[in-house]
Amino acid sequence: MPENDQIQFDERDNVFARRDLQPETPEYDEFYSRHPEWKEPDDNNRTRPEIGSFISDADMGFYEAPAWLMQHIGSPEVVDGSPAPQKVHLSPEAATNKIKNFAKQLGADLVGISSVNQAYVYSNRGRTRYSEEQWGEKIELSHQFAISMGFREDIDLIRTAPGSPELMDTSLTYLRSAIASVVLAEYIRSLGFPARAHHFANYQVLSVPLAIDAGLGELGRCGFLLTKECGNCVRLSTVTSVLSLLCDEPVDIGVQDFCNRCKICADVCPSKSIPMGDKVVVRGTEKWYIDDLKCHTYWTKVGTDCGMCIASCPWTQRNNWMHRTSARLASRSKMARIILLWLHPIIYGKYQPAELPGWFDQRIKKNRWERQPE
Ligand code: SF4
Ligand code: SF4
Repeated sequence: MPENDQIQFDERDNVFARRDLQPETPEYDEFYSRHPEWKEPDDNNRTRPEIGSFISDADMGFYEAPAWLMQHIGSPEVVDGSPAPQKVHLSPEAATNKIKNFAKQLGADLVGISSVNQAYVYSNRGRTRYSEEQWGEKIELSHQFAISMGFREDIDLIRTAPGSPELMDTSLTYLRSAIASVVLAEYIRSLGFPARAHHFANYQVLSVPLAIDAGLGELGRCGFLLTKECGNCVRLSTVTSVLSLLCDEPVDIGVQDFCNRCKICADVCPSKSIPMGDKVVVRGTEKWYIDDLKCHTYWTKVGTDCGMCIASCPWTQRNNWMHRTSARLASRSKMARIILLWLHPIIYGKYQPAELPGWFDQRIKKNRWERQPE
């Protein structure tokens, strides 16, 4: 059961799952009979180009090739499987030590463990583009522990947002996170315990709140996990299991106070999907509400997954002593947060996308959407 008044998220409500619905199918009719308010905006969104449509043919594979492999390793038999018949008995301390270190060897920059709050397990399957699982299928996940892994993105590529290098790096980082999750899940199964990987191509859980419970960071105004080490320039994957592990504690690194004052992402966001105002209660949790349809619609206009809210965040900086010192100070002192926020525009100015690296095509295909009537 979900904890407190929290309500599970139905993956069918996810904006990507909605975009995949095809008119004149039973799924489409069933969904919009329950959500008539979304039919018109979603129909409109479905007429818009796919992400990546404007990227040159030579560069399109930078995004599609990692996505292709992710799709393969998102199949049910890769994310899940049978545990080995013989159990290897480890104390929770020993198992936690092995798993955290192995996750780092698999490329994770951040690793934490939490219990599985059922509010963060999807209620029903919605995205079926990447797997053979059935749309609408009830999701039952009885695993008690979640291992959250964070993978740092390449800040130089992210700072081209909304340019195509940002899309490539997002796709590549999700692939790295996906590979790590399926290997880690298989390792746990080799110990004789059920384990399932959850990654971009096949989730049964919400990775952000689980990562927050696991102490990786806090939820920022922009709707992403905000970490001390990588800002929000980090992608997540999760492994759930019944193997007994030691849980980490959520952290307070001053993000709520920082985001209350900052609002840079809300100002930069071209679709105004990020609120300037206060948090609201969403499915039983108080947070800043992100208008995902507006955000996704902008993606279809620009042809990438945008990412300007990530690139412009003051917490998203190169991993050097200056950033590590600033993040340490910001996480400890309100006065430091005020000073750092005052300094940020003086040092960095207003967000401007960086030039594309020379090995990317500078020109994009004609934006077909611009030629269509609104
Ligand atoms: S840009 Fe500012 S308001 Fe937005 S997530 Fe980052 S710190 Fe918070
Ligand atoms: S990805 Fe772009 S459009 Fe979406 S919330 Fe971030 S800045 Fe706004």
